[in-house]
Amino acid sequence: MNVMEIFKSMEYGPAPEAAAPGLTWMQEHAPFGLFINNQWVKPGSGQYMESINPATGRPLAQIASANSADVDAAVAAARAAFETWSKTPGHIRARYMYAIVRHIQKHSRLLAVLESLDNGKPIRETRDIDIPLVARHFYYHAGWAQLMASELPGYEPVGVVGQIIPWNFPLLMLAWKIAPALAMGNTVVLKPARYTSLTALKFAEILQEIGLPPGVVNIVTGEASQVGEALVRHPDVNKIAFTGSTDVGRSIRRATAGSGKKLSLELGGKSPFIVFDDADLDSVVEGVVDAIWFNQGQVCCAGSRLLVQENIAGRLIEKLRVRMEHLRIGDPLDKAVDIGAIVSPGQLKEIQRLVNQGVEEGAVMWQPSWACPTEGYFFPPTLFTNVSPATTIAQVEIFGPVLVSMTFRTPNEAVELANNTRYGLAASVWSENINLALDVAPKLKAGSVWINCTNLFDASSGFGGYRESGFGREGGKEGLYEYVRPKWESSTPATADDFHIVKDSTLPNSSRSSAHEKEVGEASHEEDVEPGSTNGFRPAFPSIDRTPKMFIGGKQVRSDSGYSRDVYDPGGHVVGQVGEGNRKDIRNAVEASHAASGWAAGTTHNRAQILFYIAENLAAREEEFARRIVQQTGRSYSDAVSEVEASISRLFSYAAWTDKFEGVVHRPPLRGAVLAMPEPIGVTAIACPEAYPLLGFISLVAPAIAMGNTVVVIPSQTSPLSATDFYQVLETSDLPGGVVNIVTGDRDTLSQVLADHDDVDAMWYFGPAEGCKRVELASSGNMKRTWVNYGHPRNWSDPVQGEGKEFLHESTQVKNIWIPYGE
Ligand code: NAD
Ligand code: MN
Repeated sequence: MNVMEIFKSMEYGPAPEAAAPGLTWMQEHAPFGLFINNQWVKPGSGQYMESINPATGRPLAQIASANSADVDAAVAAARAAFETWSKTPGHIRARYMYAIVRHIQKHSRLLAVLESLDNGKPIRETRDIDIPLVARHFYYHAGWAQLMASELPGYEPVGVVGQIIPWNFPLLMLAWKIAPALAMGNTVVLKPARYTSLTALKFAEILQEIGLPPGVVNIVTGEASQVGEALVRHPDVNKIAFTGSTDVGRSIRRATAGSGKKLSLELGGKSPFIVFDDADLDSVVEGVVDAIWFNQGQVCCAGSRLLVQENIAGRLIEKLRVRMEHLRIGDPLDKAVDIGAIVSPGQLKEIQRLVNQGVEEGAVMWQPSWACPTEGYFFPPTLFTNVSPATTIAQVEIFGPVLVSMTFRTPNEAVELANNTRYGLAASVWSENINLALDVAPKLKAGSVWINCTNLFDASSGFGGYRESGFGREGGKEGLYEYVRPKWESSTPATADDFHIVKDSTLPNSSRSSAHEKEVGEASHEEDVEPGSTNGFRPAFPSIDRTPKMFIGGKQVRSDSGYSRDVYDPGGHVVGQVGEGNRKDIRNAVEASHAASGWAAGTTHNRAQILFYIAENLAAREEEFARRIVQQTGRSYSDAVSEVEASISRLFSYAAWTDKFEGVVHRPPLRGAVLAMPEPIGVTAIACPEAYPLLGFISLVAPAIAMGNTVVVIPSQTSPLSATDFYQVLETSDLPGGVVNIVTGDRDTLSQVLADHDDVDAMWYFGPAEGCKRVELASSGNMKRTWVNYGHPRNWSDPVQGEGKEFLHESTQVKNIWIPYGE
């Protein structure tokens, strides 16, 4: 080609980044061992696996394939290191992290080359996106290490963390996992994905260089069935952080159920890319390129569903095809290549299979006229039109460069279509009308919403899913809570069976009541207490028979079964009866709870007012509620009064928090802002603790509804009457029907129905350890969020344990809305 010809065609010449530094580094190190205790060790199995270059299909290096004994060794190293690392001052941890990031920056070119060679992604992306974001993540979290003591008082590290990452952003996912873990004082065993371990091994070398204390980070390469499963099941691992597919996430949820391991899951997605008719279509086209052809579409939050307003669909699709003709596919190390190779032959086959299925299902497939390289694993950018929303390609995550498009007419239809998937990772909204875009953003079920932009990430802004895209956040302050736990937990001994007898000594003036005590301390109340409602005395005459109803959709209703169950005092005397709730009652309650979802859309001022009003109405009936507690528990009257007063105070606390637990505005390095908004999780099922019949109920229900959730509550199984009395307070407090639903009966039978229910978004369970395990197991059905106590007692009367931010975090999930500025 001569200059004239080049001038005419404006064709790119080759612009290869040199592979040599990467190849040399591999030659010097291969075969790669495992990184345990800052040493390179041979795998116990003696087995190695090959890492290949997907752009050529040829092997790059031999990598150790660990077995469960190797995992044991790594966990032991991390456990030993935890002793010191967890006590290392934040400033010192920050210095180590600063050293790590400076070395990453020094080696950035090598890391970018290695990542492109191993994963097949274009060097333009590894050099300009992956590696800079890795550095940013370590800087940001070095800052949190420095600030932990002042900004997270009352929290401590969780311990040894097992981290399992996918192949699509190998070093970036490592950074997202390791940086917050180290910042918060944990130690780590990390398993890279089988196809892409090389940059993690280069990272290990950096840790050696900077002299990170041995055992703080251990890197164990190998197969999922060996290393991954061993880590998940390891009894000495305190937390699993996983990024990968929803199916594997679900199996990890099941495998860890009841173990007490903390868990965060970043799973798959089928994110909508919504284009309104007033959007700037040229920007939209570039947005689509970034949404679905970035990293060959192997992006969990890829905008893989293009939803276009009908009247502009034809024009947009036409522009898009023109652009697709100009995309350049080929050698990932070529700096002018847009699309690299698919990570593995298996992944390539899976993409092809789903594309074939789309064609069979009747959608129209379009690909550019040019051909892909024949060596290596390449797949052309692909666009489907005429897609109907229920088909496989519209619902299943393809994880490849395949875009499916659908149309809508109205904003409401757009929201409905956008949310019509089991996932909820991300969404982007394109419109020049800021009112429209900001009206739609809160309605989308997604952890990240990008307005007139897409696939933007920053360490300051948390990332993570709604619904079956997982739970927990990475990045932002919210991400830190995945790596800490309240300090009081480790100072309270855990026993499985004394759970419902959190000692009354925790309340002021308390003890199991006895006649003597009463004589001494409570004389003034003695005459207030009706005979028959207090300790050991039986009524001399029958009271009017009254079986409290259940409370569903704002109405008092009888149990579906028609049966009731007896409620006893500690002396074994029947003090009342409540309805025996069943499956049908739970279904009705869940339905009512959904129907009340407008609660979340109201103002926080309104919710606060109602919570204050509930407190006011409870205060007016303080004595009656105290007597009821005495009657059910046999505790002293003064004890019971303290419980009622603590409940009133707690209602005030959450009335206060309602309009104060707000989001933040992040300032990532771009012209724009990110609004991090805590949103309610939705329908929340709550199984109350047995002790503190009133305070246990209030402590859980109040934060949930303060944050906009609607609830289905199973009150204390042994002492349900305080909760059933409470619906009369709710009825007089302007609380909309369906926000709080109360179903009495057998805690574990009812909990099982709730945990299995696909329309329940979160479940909290405070009961015995086996019950916690059953709830966590069943939650994997729709990946509902769970909060259980693993049989640990909690002192509900202590404000540190019984109220505050922990409850508010459990009641919310953060949505990050990205709003770039400027023309
Ligand atoms: P994958 O679930 O197959 O594997 C992820 C990791 O888990 C790998 O390291 C694998 O070896 C390991 N693993 C597999 N089975 C395991 C088991 N039973 N026990 C323990 N570990 C096991 O996913 P993948 O194919 O590597 O990655 C693609 C998926 O990851 C996509 O679904 C994508 O959406 C998701 N992903 C999500 C995010 C996010 O942040 N939400 C980011 C990147 C990728
Ligand atoms: Mn590879």
